[in-house]
Amino acid sequence: MQQPLEPPGQQPPGSGAGKAAEDDGGGGKGSADSNAMSGNPYAGLVSHLRAAWLSGKTRPMEYRVAQLEALGRFLDEKKQDILEATALDMGKPQFEAEFSEILLCKNELHETLNNLSQWMKDEQVDRNLVTRLDSAFIRKDPYGVVLIIAPWNYPIHLILVPLIGAIAAGNCVVTKPSEKTTNTERLVAEVLPNYLDKDCFAVVTAGVQETTRLLENKFDYIFYTGSPSVGRIVMAAAAKHLTPVTLELGGKNPCYVSDTCDVQNVARRVAWGRFFNAGQTCVAPDYVLCSAEMQEKLLPALRKTITEFFGPNPQESPDFARIVGDRHFQRVQALLRSGRVAIGGETDAEARYIAPTVLVDLQPSDPIMQEEIFGPILPIVIVANVDEAIDFINSRERPLVVYAFSSDDKVVNQVLERTSSGGFCGNDTLMHVMLTSLPFGGIGSSGLGMYHGRFTFDAFTHHRGCLHRGMGREALNALRYPPYSQQKLGIVRAASEVKRKGSCTLL
Ligand code: NAD
Repeated sequence: MQQPLEPPGQQPPGSGAGKAAEDDGGGGKGSADSNAMSGNPYAGLVSHLRAAWLSGKTRPMEYRVAQLEALGRFLDEKKQDILEATALDMGKPQFEAEFSEILLCKNELHETLNNLSQWMKDEQVDRNLVTRLDSAFIRKDPYGVVLIIAPWNYPIHLILVPLIGAIAAGNCVVTKPSEKTTNTERLVAEVLPNYLDKDCFAVVTAGVQETTRLLENKFDYIFYTGSPSVGRIVMAAAAKHLTPVTLELGGKNPCYVSDTCDVQNVARRVAWGRFFNAGQTCVAPDYVLCSAEMQEKLLPALRKTITEFFGPNPQESPDFARIVGDRHFQRVQALLRSGRVAIGGETDAEARYIAPTVLVDLQPSDPIMQEEIFGPILPIVIVANVDEAIDFINSRERPLVVYAFSSDDKVVNQVLERTSSGGFCGNDTLMHVMLTSLPFGGIGSSGLGMYHGRFTFDAFTHHRGCLHRGMGREALNALRYPPYSQQKLGIVRAASEVKRKGSCTLL
């Protein structure tokens, strides 16, 4: 169990921070924060972390590596607890939990540990004639005290992957898991801090009201994952302090299926992406766009796939998750009223079970086409051809990912070139998320900023442009000092001008 932080009169509800934090009382180096935020229940915590950050403790690579390795031990030693907590919270199948909550976090961790010394290095940059003898470089500076707010659908992954980058970049961190997945939230709050330096890393358990108070504090960076509507609230709170943000949001991801493809393979790949975690995945294909002819072929292939995956009664399958809570269950169930059920459609409110479902005969104006589904329902919308599909996609908010299936690469490339989205995956679903070499993030209403692998380190790093000059050679500097003259300007221009490549310098 964690000791709660107790600055006098300012005990934050549900924060997992260390003993040293208890002694701080919101004073010391971080007092500017707590003075400004007097009465805020989290001011002491933020103040304490800021003092730790200012002490320089998180800067050495050895410190960061030790914390990251401890985080790896948390994943190894508490693997069974993670699997049990996610199963309790939303019936997450063991395979899906190991794949998404453990394996992908370990990949991110190993990628970071393998490359950290390289990523942290100063980057030497080109110099001009004036600075030829000086040192010009990009310093990879930590932001300071950062806040990570996570949703419930991948409650370990979406805390740990950003946390890995935040630690690697040398920050102090407050993490706030979702309050909806109570078992995982408890595990993260009670156990994770035992592995990390409690002076520098804290877990805060908070609902909407408490998170609102938490966001009143000045952080140096906020990394938020969740819905676009809450993303706006977080961005507005960050704007008060001019705090930079990453917003990893959601939306409706289109999936175009052309007339030329291996229908059974498409059915498997689309069904896997849609029904993984019972559809509660930000990058799930939200709806299919295809011709009426393709729909005729796709429906039996999807029916066959669903039976192959989950047996004749998916409710009895250990490989199919449940909806996270009653409110979400009711929301997703109501979406079943759009169009006509072609496959599935069964529900069980008590078990929060919604069968893998395919809907047809939809209008773009139907409720299911107005919001992110975030459940195991796949609507099929008929389009005449690829041009109409592209127009449909471009007439809506820009999604987190666009999917396109075709045996003809030209068609896949056409969809890629004529649409805009956070990411893109041709002829499969979800698989692009596995690569730590690819940036992951949204655009427009699906988000702002990117992470994964090197991009996570960069997200939590301020790229500080530095020039370190020598003290001598003042005669050269005199050329830029008043009194000015045309002759001086000519020399300064010649020594510092960035010339257009290929331009003739003789004339
Ligand atoms: P949510 O926005 O309701 O909650 C996310 C977090 O914000 C939670 O920790 C919650 O406590 C907090 N929060 C909620 N209301 C708040 C408020 N008014 N003020 C401050 N904080 C508040 O999202 P959710 O339901 O947990 O997750 C589902 C959404 O997340 C979907 O839209 C999904 O697409 C998106 N998502 C995006 C990604 C991504 O990587 N882009 C990943 C997973 C989920």
